[in-house]
Amino acid sequence: MNRIPMKTPLVEIDGDEMTRILWKMIKDELLEPFVELNTEYYDLGLPHRDETDDQVTVDAANAIKKYGVGVKCATITPNKARQKEYDLKRLYPSPNATLRAILDGTVFRTPILVKGIEPCVSNWKKPITIARHAYGDVYKNTEFRIPGKGTVKLVYEAEDGTVKEQTVFVFDGPGVVQGMYNIDRSITSFARSCFTYALNAKQDLWFAAKDTISKTYDGQFKAIFEKVFEEEFKEQFEEEGITYFYTLIDDAVARIMKSEGGIIWACKNYDGDVFSDMLSSAFGSLAMMTSVLVSPDGYFEYEAAHGTVQRHYYKHLKGEKTSTNSVATIFAWTGALRKRGELDGNGELMNFADLLERAVIHTIENGTMTGDLIRLSTLEKTKKVDSLEFIQAVRSELESCM
Ligand code: NAP
Ligand code: MG
Repeated sequence: MNRIPMKTPLVEIDGDEMTRILWKMIKDELLEPFVELNTEYYDLGLPHRDETDDQVTVDAANAIKKYGVGVKCATITPNKARQKEYDLKRLYPSPNATLRAILDGTVFRTPILVKGIEPCVSNWKKPITIARHAYGDVYKNTEFRIPGKGTVKLVYEAEDGTVKEQTVFVFDGPGVVQGMYNIDRSITSFARSCFTYALNAKQDLWFAAKDTISKTYDGQFKAIFEKVFEEEFKEQFEEEGITYFYTLIDDAVARIMKSEGGIIWACKNYDGDVFSDMLSSAFGSLAMMTSVLVSPDGYFEYEAAHGTVQRHYYKHLKGEKTSTNSVATIFAWTGALRKRGELDGNGELMNFADLLERAVIHTIENGTMTGDLIRLSTLEKTKKVDSLEFIQAVRSELESCM
Protein backbone atom coordinates (compact mmCIF):
# COMPACT_ATOMS: atom_id res chain seq x y z
CA MET A 1 0.00 0.00 0.00
CA ASN A 2 1.21 3.51 -0.79
CA ARG A 3 1.70 5.63 2.28
CA ILE A 4 0.24 9.13 2.32
CA PRO A 5 2.92 11.77 1.78
CA MET A 6 3.14 14.95 3.88
CA LYS A 7 4.43 18.22 2.50
CA THR A 8 5.08 20.34 5.59
CA PRO A 9 6.42 18.95 8.85
CA LEU A 10 4.16 18.60 11.84
CA VAL A 11 5.73 19.66 15.14
CA GLU A 12 5.82 16.49 17.23
CA ILE A 13 6.23 17.04 20.97
CA ASP A 14 6.93 13.88 22.94
CA GLY A 15 6.24 13.63 26.66
CA ASP A 16 6.37 11.45 29.75
CA GLU A 17 5.42 8.22 31.46
CA MET A 18 2.45 6.12 30.23
CA THR A 19 1.45 8.59 27.56
CA ARG A 20 4.99 8.40 26.14
CA ILE A 21 4.55 4.62 25.87
CA LEU A 22 1.17 5.09 24.14
CA TRP A 23 2.71 7.72 21.85
CA LYS A 24 5.14 5.21 20.36
CA MET A 25 2.48 2.50 20.05
CA ILE A 26 0.20 4.92 18.19
CA LYS A 27 2.98 5.92 15.79
CA ASP A 28 4.07 2.31 15.18
CA GLU A 29 0.62 0.80 14.75
CA LEU A 30 -1.68 3.55 13.50
CA LEU A 31 0.40 6.21 11.76
CA GLU A 32 3.70 5.02 10.25
CA PRO A 33 2.13 2.12 8.31
CA PHE A 34 -0.25 4.50 6.54
CA VAL A 35 1.41 7.93 6.46
CA GLU A 36 4.94 8.99 5.49
CA LEU A 37 5.11 10.90 8.75
CA ASN A 38 6.95 14.15 8.28
CA THR A 39 7.53 15.55 11.75
CA GLU A 40 10.00 17.81 13.46
CA TYR A 41 10.58 16.04 16.77
CA TYR A 42 10.96 17.74 20.15
CA ASP A 43 11.52 15.57 23.20
CA LEU A 44 9.82 17.20 26.17
CA GLY A 45 10.31 14.12 28.31
CA LEU A 46 11.46 15.42 31.69
CA PRO A 47 15.08 14.11 31.41
CA HIS A 48 15.59 15.99 28.13
CA ARG A 49 13.94 19.16 29.44
CA ASP A 50 16.43 18.99 32.30
CA GLU A 51 19.41 18.40 29.97
CA THR A 52 18.46 21.43 27.88
CA ASP A 53 17.48 23.65 30.82
CA ASP A 54 13.97 23.63 29.35
CA GLN A 55 15.21 25.28 26.12
CA VAL A 56 13.60 22.40 24.21
CA THR A 57 10.15 23.62 25.32
CA VAL A 58 10.85 27.10 23.98
CA ASP A 59 12.21 25.61 20.74
CA ALA A 60 9.07 23.49 20.35
CA ALA A 61 6.85 26.56 20.75
CA ASN A 62 8.87 28.46 18.16
CA ALA A 63 8.62 25.52 15.78
CA ILE A 64 4.82 25.67 16.08
CA LYS A 65 5.07 29.35 15.17
CA LYS A 66 7.14 28.39 12.14
CA TYR A 67 5.02 25.50 10.84
CA GLY A 68 1.61 26.34 12.29
CA VAL A 69 0.60 22.96 13.73
CA GLY A 70 1.86 20.81 16.59
CA VAL A 71 0.82 17.68 18.44
CA LYS A 72 1.81 17.20 22.05
CA CYS A 73 2.04 14.22 24.39
CA ALA A 74 1.18 14.75 28.06
CA THR A 75 4.12 15.92 30.14
CA ILE A 76 5.01 16.01 33.83
CA THR A 77 4.81 19.36 35.56
CA PRO A 78 7.51 18.82 38.14
CA ASN A 79 6.92 19.32 41.85
CA LYS A 80 9.33 18.58 44.71
CA ALA A 81 8.69 14.83 44.52
CA ARG A 82 9.40 14.81 40.77
CA GLN A 83 12.55 16.86 41.27
CA LYS A 84 13.85 14.11 43.54
CA GLU A 85 12.59 11.29 41.33
CA TYR A 86 14.30 12.69 38.20
CA ASP A 87 17.20 14.41 39.97
CA LEU A 88 16.29 17.72 38.32
CA LYS A 89 18.47 20.80 38.35
CA ARG A 90 15.45 22.94 39.16
CA LEU A 91 11.65 22.99 39.18
CA TYR A 92 10.67 23.71 35.59
CA PRO A 93 7.38 25.43 34.84
CA SER A 94 4.51 23.54 33.28
CA PRO A 95 5.35 23.00 29.56
CA ASN A 96 1.76 23.89 28.70
CA ALA A 97 2.16 27.22 30.47
CA THR A 98 5.41 27.91 28.58
CA LEU A 99 3.80 27.02 25.24
CA ARG A 100 0.76 29.15 26.04
CA ALA A 101 2.90 32.10 27.05
CA ILE A 102 4.76 31.99 23.72
CA LEU A 103 1.82 31.15 21.46
CA ASP A 104 -0.70 33.25 23.42
CA GLY A 105 -3.74 31.12 22.96
CA THR A 106 -6.95 29.76 24.30
CA VAL A 107 -7.51 26.11 25.15
CA PHE A 108 -10.59 24.41 23.70
CA ARG A 109 -11.76 21.12 25.19
CA THR A 110 -14.21 18.81 23.46
CA PRO A 111 -15.56 15.43 24.56
CA ILE A 112 -15.46 12.50 22.14
CA LEU A 113 -18.90 10.90 22.03
CA VAL A 114 -19.43 7.17 21.50
CA LYS A 115 -22.54 5.03 21.77
CA GLY A 116 -22.57 3.13 25.04
CA ILE A 117 -20.92 5.92 27.02
CA GLU A 118 -23.88 8.19 27.61
CA PRO A 119 -23.63 11.73 28.97
CA CYS A 120 -25.36 12.24 32.33
CA VAL A 121 -27.48 14.91 30.63
CA SER A 122 -29.65 12.88 28.31
CA ASN A 123 -30.44 15.68 25.85
CA TRP A 124 -26.74 16.30 25.07
CA LYS A 125 -26.52 14.66 21.67
CA LYS A 126 -23.50 16.53 20.34
CA PRO A 127 -20.29 17.57 22.02
CA ILE A 128 -20.06 20.87 23.88
CA THR A 129 -16.70 22.58 23.56
CA ILE A 130 -15.44 24.77 26.38
CA ALA A 131 -13.07 27.64 25.68
CA ARG A 132 -11.47 28.95 28.85
CA HIS A 133 -9.79 32.32 29.05
CA ALA A 134 -6.55 31.48 30.83
CA TYR A 135 -5.36 34.89 31.98
CA GLY A 136 -5.92 37.07 35.03
CA ASP A 137 -9.09 37.54 37.13
CA VAL A 138 -9.17 35.70 40.44
CA TYR A 139 -6.11 33.59 39.45
CA LYS A 140 -3.94 36.70 39.73
CA ASN A 141 -5.75 38.34 42.61
CA THR A 142 -4.40 40.34 45.52
CA GLU A 143 -6.29 39.72 48.71
CA PHE A 144 -6.03 40.10 52.43
CA ARG A 145 -7.90 39.78 55.70
CA ILE A 146 -9.37 42.94 57.12
CA PRO A 147 -8.68 42.81 60.84
CA GLY A 148 -11.25 45.40 61.94
CA LYS A 149 -12.82 48.80 61.40
CA GLY A 150 -11.42 50.81 58.50
CA THR A 151 -11.84 51.84 54.87
CA VAL A 152 -10.65 49.99 51.76
CA LYS A 153 -10.00 52.06 48.63
CA LEU A 154 -9.09 51.24 45.04
CA VAL A 155 -6.32 53.57 43.86
CA TYR A 156 -4.96 53.93 40.32
CA GLU A 157 -1.89 56.11 39.72
CA ALA A 158 -1.45 56.90 36.05
CA GLU A 159 2.03 57.30 34.58
CA ASP A 160 1.46 61.05 34.33
CA GLY A 161 0.77 61.23 38.05
CA THR A 162 -2.99 61.61 37.97
CA VAL A 163 -4.74 59.58 40.61
CA LYS A 164 -8.13 57.94 40.53
CA GLU A 165 -9.54 56.76 43.84
CA GLN A 166 -12.73 54.99 44.85
CA THR A 167 -13.96 53.61 48.14
CA VAL A 168 -14.57 49.86 48.02
CA PHE A 169 -16.08 49.49 51.48
CA VAL A 170 -16.15 51.02 54.91
CA PHE A 171 -15.64 48.10 57.31
CA ASP A 172 -17.19 48.28 60.76
CA GLY A 173 -15.56 44.99 61.75
CA PRO A 174 -13.30 42.21 60.42
CA GLY A 175 -13.71 40.83 56.90
CA VAL A 176 -11.87 40.12 53.65
CA VAL A 177 -11.05 42.02 50.48
CA GLN A 178 -9.59 41.19 47.10
CA GLY A 179 -8.50 43.04 43.97
CA MET A 180 -8.16 41.59 40.50
CA TYR A 181 -7.56 42.71 36.94
CA ASN A 182 -7.56 41.84 33.29
CA ILE A 183 -6.18 43.56 30.23
CA ASP A 184 -7.78 44.47 26.90
CA ARG A 185 -4.98 42.81 24.93
CA SER A 186 -5.60 39.41 26.50
CA ILE A 187 -9.39 39.63 26.27
CA THR A 188 -9.10 40.63 22.61
CA SER A 189 -6.86 37.69 21.75
CA PHE A 190 -9.20 35.38 23.68
CA ALA A 191 -12.13 36.67 21.63
CA ARG A 192 -10.21 36.23 18.36
CA SER A 193 -9.22 32.66 19.25
CA CYS A 194 -12.86 31.82 20.03
CA PHE A 195 -14.23 33.29 16.81
CA THR A 196 -11.47 31.59 14.80
CA TYR A 197 -12.20 28.25 16.43
CA ALA A 198 -15.96 28.56 15.87
CA LEU A 199 -15.42 29.29 12.19
CA ASN A 200 -13.10 26.34 11.94
CA ALA A 201 -15.55 24.00 13.68
CA LYS A 202 -18.54 25.60 11.91
CA GLN A 203 -20.41 25.81 15.22
CA ASP A 204 -22.22 28.59 17.06
CA LEU A 205 -20.27 30.48 19.67
CA TRP A 206 -21.73 31.47 23.04
CA PHE A 207 -20.04 33.83 25.43
CA ALA A 208 -21.39 34.62 28.86
CA ALA A 209 -20.41 36.91 31.71
CA LYS A 210 -22.24 38.87 34.40
CA ASP A 211 -22.29 42.41 33.01
CA THR A 212 -25.56 43.29 34.75
CA ILE A 213 -23.71 43.14 38.08
CA SER A 214 -20.13 43.81 36.96
CA LYS A 215 -20.95 46.62 34.56
CA THR A 216 -17.39 47.78 33.92
CA TYR A 217 -15.29 44.64 34.37
CA ASP A 218 -17.52 42.03 32.75
CA GLY A 219 -18.96 44.82 30.62
CA GLN A 220 -15.52 45.21 29.05
CA PHE A 221 -15.37 41.50 28.16
CA LYS A 222 -18.76 41.78 26.53
CA ALA A 223 -17.81 44.96 24.65
CA ILE A 224 -14.55 43.52 23.34
CA PHE A 225 -16.23 40.36 22.09
CA GLU A 226 -18.84 42.45 20.33
CA LYS A 227 -16.26 44.74 18.74
CA VAL A 228 -14.02 41.92 17.51
CA PHE A 229 -17.07 40.13 16.14
CA GLU A 230 -18.47 43.16 14.31
CA GLU A 231 -15.13 44.24 12.87
CA GLU A 232 -13.47 40.97 12.00
CA PHE A 233 -15.82 37.99 11.96
CA LYS A 234 -19.43 38.93 11.32
CA GLU A 235 -19.36 38.41 7.57
CA GLN A 236 -17.54 35.10 7.77
CA PHE A 237 -20.04 33.87 10.39
CA GLU A 238 -22.91 34.80 8.07
CA GLU A 239 -21.24 32.97 5.17
CA GLU A 240 -20.88 29.83 7.29
CA GLY A 241 -24.42 30.15 8.68
CA ILE A 242 -23.26 30.20 12.30
CA THR A 243 -24.06 32.71 15.03
CA TYR A 244 -22.41 34.51 17.91
CA PHE A 245 -24.58 34.81 20.99
CA TYR A 246 -23.93 36.71 24.23
CA THR A 247 -25.92 36.05 27.36
CA LEU A 248 -25.59 36.21 31.15
CA ILE A 249 -23.61 33.37 32.72
CA ASP A 250 -26.55 32.03 34.76
CA ASP A 251 -28.75 32.07 31.67
CA ALA A 252 -26.00 30.27 29.73
CA VAL A 253 -25.83 27.51 32.35
CA ALA A 254 -29.59 27.01 32.20
CA ARG A 255 -29.53 26.92 28.39
CA ILE A 256 -26.56 24.52 28.25
CA MET A 257 -28.42 22.00 30.40
CA LYS A 258 -31.34 22.06 27.98
CA SER A 259 -29.39 22.26 24.73
CA GLU A 260 -28.52 19.33 22.52
CA GLY A 261 -24.88 20.44 22.32
CA GLY A 262 -22.88 21.16 19.20
CA ILE A 263 -21.75 24.59 20.38
CA ILE A 264 -18.64 26.38 21.54
CA TRP A 265 -18.99 27.91 25.00
CA ALA A 266 -16.48 30.66 25.74
CA CYS A 267 -15.94 31.18 29.46
CA LYS A 268 -14.09 33.65 31.60
CA ASN A 269 -11.21 32.12 33.54
CA TYR A 270 -13.09 31.05 36.68
CA ASP A 271 -16.24 29.95 34.86
CA GLY A 272 -14.08 27.88 32.51
CA ASP A 273 -12.28 26.22 35.42
CA VAL A 274 -15.58 25.19 37.00
CA PHE A 275 -17.61 24.28 33.93
CA SER A 276 -14.89 22.34 32.09
CA ASP A 277 -14.74 19.86 34.98
CA MET A 278 -18.53 19.70 35.04
CA LEU A 279 -18.67 18.98 31.31
CA SER A 280 -15.87 16.42 31.22
CA SER A 281 -17.33 14.39 34.05
CA ALA A 282 -20.88 14.70 32.72
CA PHE A 283 -19.72 13.49 29.30
CA GLY A 284 -17.91 10.49 30.79
CA SER A 285 -14.14 10.61 31.14
CA LEU A 286 -11.06 12.79 30.87
CA ALA A 287 -9.54 10.09 28.68
CA MET A 288 -12.25 10.91 26.10
CA MET A 289 -11.56 14.64 26.04
CA THR A 290 -9.54 16.39 23.36
CA SER A 291 -7.77 19.64 23.88
CA VAL A 292 -6.38 22.16 21.42
CA LEU A 293 -4.58 25.42 21.96
CA VAL A 294 -5.56 27.97 19.32
CA SER A 295 -3.49 31.10 19.08
CA PRO A 296 -4.97 34.36 17.80
CA ASP A 297 -2.36 34.23 15.01
CA GLY A 298 -3.76 30.92 13.80
CA TYR A 299 -1.32 28.40 15.29
CA PHE A 300 -2.74 25.11 16.56
CA GLU A 301 -1.41 22.73 19.19
CA TYR A 302 -3.33 19.48 19.80
CA GLU A 303 -3.09 17.27 22.88
CA ALA A 304 -5.06 15.01 25.24
CA ALA A 305 -6.76 16.67 28.20
CA HIS A 306 -5.47 14.12 30.72
CA GLY A 307 -2.02 13.81 32.30
CA THR A 308 0.75 11.24 31.98
CA VAL A 309 -1.22 8.52 33.86
CA GLN A 310 1.58 7.92 36.35
CA ARG A 311 -0.05 5.03 38.23
CA HIS A 312 -0.38 2.97 35.05
CA TYR A 313 3.22 3.77 34.10
CA TYR A 314 4.56 2.27 37.32
CA LYS A 315 2.53 -0.87 36.65
CA HIS A 316 3.98 -0.95 33.15
CA LEU A 317 7.53 -0.62 34.53
CA LYS A 318 6.90 -3.59 36.79
CA GLY A 319 6.01 -5.60 33.69
CA GLU A 320 2.30 -5.70 34.53
CA LYS A 321 -0.38 -5.25 31.88
CA THR A 322 -2.00 -1.83 31.69
CA SER A 323 -5.34 -0.90 30.20
CA THR A 324 -4.71 2.76 29.47
CA ASN A 325 -7.06 4.64 27.19
CA SER A 326 -5.23 6.08 24.16
CA VAL A 327 -8.29 7.70 22.53
CA ALA A 328 -7.57 11.31 23.47
CA THR A 329 -3.95 10.95 22.34
CA ILE A 330 -4.99 9.35 19.04
CA PHE A 331 -7.43 12.24 18.53
CA ALA A 332 -4.64 14.72 19.23
CA TRP A 333 -2.80 13.18 16.27
CA THR A 334 -5.85 13.10 14.01
CA GLY A 335 -6.68 16.71 14.88
CA ALA A 336 -3.16 17.80 14.02
CA LEU A 337 -2.92 15.70 10.84
CA ARG A 338 -6.29 17.00 9.64
CA LYS A 339 -5.25 20.59 10.28
CA ARG A 340 -1.88 19.99 8.54
CA GLY A 341 -3.77 18.48 5.61
CA GLU A 342 -6.15 21.42 5.49
CA LEU A 343 -3.32 23.98 5.46
CA ASP A 344 -1.37 22.04 2.82
CA GLY A 345 -4.36 21.16 0.63
CA ASN A 346 -3.66 17.49 1.36
CA GLY A 347 -7.09 15.86 1.10
CA GLU A 348 -5.70 12.35 1.50
CA LEU A 349 -4.25 13.23 4.88
CA MET A 350 -7.55 14.79 6.00
CA ASN A 351 -9.43 11.66 4.91
CA PHE A 352 -7.00 9.49 6.81
CA ALA A 353 -7.63 11.51 9.99
CA ASP A 354 -11.40 11.07 9.59
CA LEU A 355 -11.01 7.36 8.93
CA LEU A 356 -8.80 6.78 11.95
CA GLU A 357 -11.26 8.61 14.23
CA ARG A 358 -14.10 6.51 12.85
CA ALA A 359 -12.07 3.34 13.43
CA VAL A 360 -11.55 4.33 17.08
CA ILE A 361 -15.25 5.02 17.60
CA HIS A 362 -16.33 1.79 15.85
CA THR A 363 -13.92 -0.24 17.94
CA ILE A 364 -15.46 1.07 21.17
CA GLU A 365 -19.02 0.90 19.89
CA ASN A 366 -18.39 -2.75 18.94
CA GLY A 367 -17.55 -3.41 22.58
CA THR A 368 -13.72 -3.43 22.62
CA MET A 369 -12.39 -0.90 25.12
CA THR A 370 -9.98 -0.15 27.94
CA GLY A 371 -10.84 -0.60 31.61
CA ASP A 372 -11.81 2.99 32.31
CA LEU A 373 -14.61 2.80 29.71
CA ILE A 374 -15.80 -0.69 30.66
CA ARG A 375 -16.85 0.84 33.99
CA LEU A 376 -19.01 3.43 32.18
CA SER A 377 -20.32 1.45 29.25
CA THR A 378 -24.01 0.63 28.88
CA LEU A 379 -23.34 -1.91 26.08
CA GLU A 380 -24.45 -5.48 26.79
CA LYS A 381 -21.29 -7.17 25.55
CA THR A 382 -17.94 -5.57 26.24
CA LYS A 383 -14.39 -6.83 26.09
CA LYS A 384 -11.65 -5.31 28.21
CA VAL A 385 -8.32 -5.09 26.42
CA ASP A 386 -4.87 -3.88 27.39
CA SER A 387 -3.22 -0.72 26.11
CA LEU A 388 -1.59 -2.31 23.06
CA GLU A 389 -4.51 -4.63 22.25
CA PHE A 390 -6.82 -1.63 22.02
CA ILE A 391 -4.54 0.12 19.55
CA GLN A 392 -4.20 -3.11 17.55
CA ALA A 393 -7.99 -3.52 17.50
CA VAL A 394 -8.26 0.02 16.11
CA ARG A 395 -5.66 -0.90 13.48
CA SER A 396 -7.62 -3.89 12.23
CA GLU A 397 -10.79 -1.78 12.15
CA LEU A 398 -8.90 0.89 10.21
CA GLU A 399 -7.51 -1.65 7.73
CA SER A 400 -10.95 -3.07 7.11
CA CYS A 401 -12.36 0.45 6.44
CA MET A 402 -9.57 1.15 3.95
P1 NAP B 1 -3.66 11.85 35.07
O1 NAP B 1 -2.42 11.46 34.38
O2 NAP B 1 -4.66 12.55 34.24
O3 NAP B 1 -4.32 10.56 35.71
C1 NAP B 1 -5.18 10.56 36.84
C2 NAP B 1 -6.01 9.30 36.85
O4 NAP B 1 -7.04 9.40 35.90
C3 NAP B 1 -5.24 8.05 36.45
O5 NAP B 1 -4.54 7.50 37.52
C4 NAP B 1 -6.33 7.18 35.90
O6 NAP B 1 -7.14 6.63 36.94
C5 NAP B 1 -7.21 8.19 35.19
N1 NAP B 1 -6.78 8.41 33.79
C6 NAP B 1 -6.32 9.56 33.25
N2 NAP B 1 -6.05 9.39 31.95
C7 NAP B 1 -6.34 8.09 31.68
C8 NAP B 1 -6.27 7.31 30.50
N3 NAP B 1 -5.82 7.83 29.34
N4 NAP B 1 -6.65 6.01 30.55
C9 NAP B 1 -7.10 5.49 31.71
N5 NAP B 1 -7.20 6.18 32.85
C10 NAP B 1 -6.82 7.47 32.84
O7 NAP B 1 -3.31 12.80 36.29
P2 NAP B 1 -2.21 12.64 37.45
O8 NAP B 1 -1.88 11.21 37.69
O9 NAP B 1 -2.73 13.48 38.52
O10 NAP B 1 -0.93 13.35 36.86
C11 NAP B 1 0.18 12.65 36.34
C12 NAP B 1 1.13 13.66 35.73
O11 NAP B 1 0.51 14.28 34.61
C13 NAP B 1 1.52 14.78 36.66
O12 NAP B 1 2.94 14.80 36.76
C14 NAP B 1 1.01 16.05 36.01
O13 NAP B 1 1.95 17.09 36.10
C15 NAP B 1 0.83 15.65 34.58
N6 NAP B 1 -0.25 16.35 33.86
C16 NAP B 1 0.02 16.73 32.58
C17 NAP B 1 -0.94 17.33 31.81
C18 NAP B 1 -0.59 17.74 30.40
O14 NAP B 1 0.52 17.55 29.96
N7 NAP B 1 -1.52 18.27 29.66
C19 NAP B 1 -2.23 17.53 32.32
C20 NAP B 1 -2.50 17.09 33.62
C21 NAP B 1 -1.51 16.48 34.38
P3 NAP B 1 -6.86 5.20 37.64
O15 NAP B 1 -5.52 5.31 38.27
O16 NAP B 1 -7.98 5.11 38.60
O17 NAP B 1 -6.91 4.13 36.57
MG1 MG C 1 -10.10 22.95 37.67
